[in-house]
Amino acid sequence: MLTPVIDPDGAPFWQYAAQGELRVQACADCGELRFPPRPCCPHCQSLASEWRAVSGNGRIWSYVVPHPPLLPEYAEQAPYNVIVVELAEAPRIRLVGNLVSEAGAPLNSRDPRSIRIGARVRFVFDRSTGLPQWVLERP
Ligand code: ZN
Repeated sequence: MLTPVIDPDGAPFWQYAAQGELRVQACADCGELRFPPRPCCPHCQSLASEWRAVSGNGRIWSYVVPHPPLLPEYAEQAPYNVIVVELAEAPRIRLVGNLVSEAGAPLNSRDPRSIRIGARVRFVFDRSTGLPQWVLERP
């Protein structure tokens, strides 16, 4: 398994995710949510920020089904899915992840042919790998 490369701007995202909580960086002055995390607000140029809890609800905006050649640990699990989720609270914010059957399930636990753009999904956290995942709101 590849582990995330964590930089200082993004570290809080992973700390909250490890507690099972999805938080997104927000400007402390104008309130705009932004992702990926960065020091400066692209709307008002403020350097003040905070981490705001979001519902973890979203919709599949797009997806791909990677096939080999892949990194060896991923090749074993192919075909699997990689989805792009737009957040319910901030449709301009899109997070990349995997749609799985339940929290902690393998990347290939859902048949990629069953994935539909627009389907409602919910954030879950895989406690064994430390990675965020997504499940269908209504499986
Ligand atoms: Zn701002």
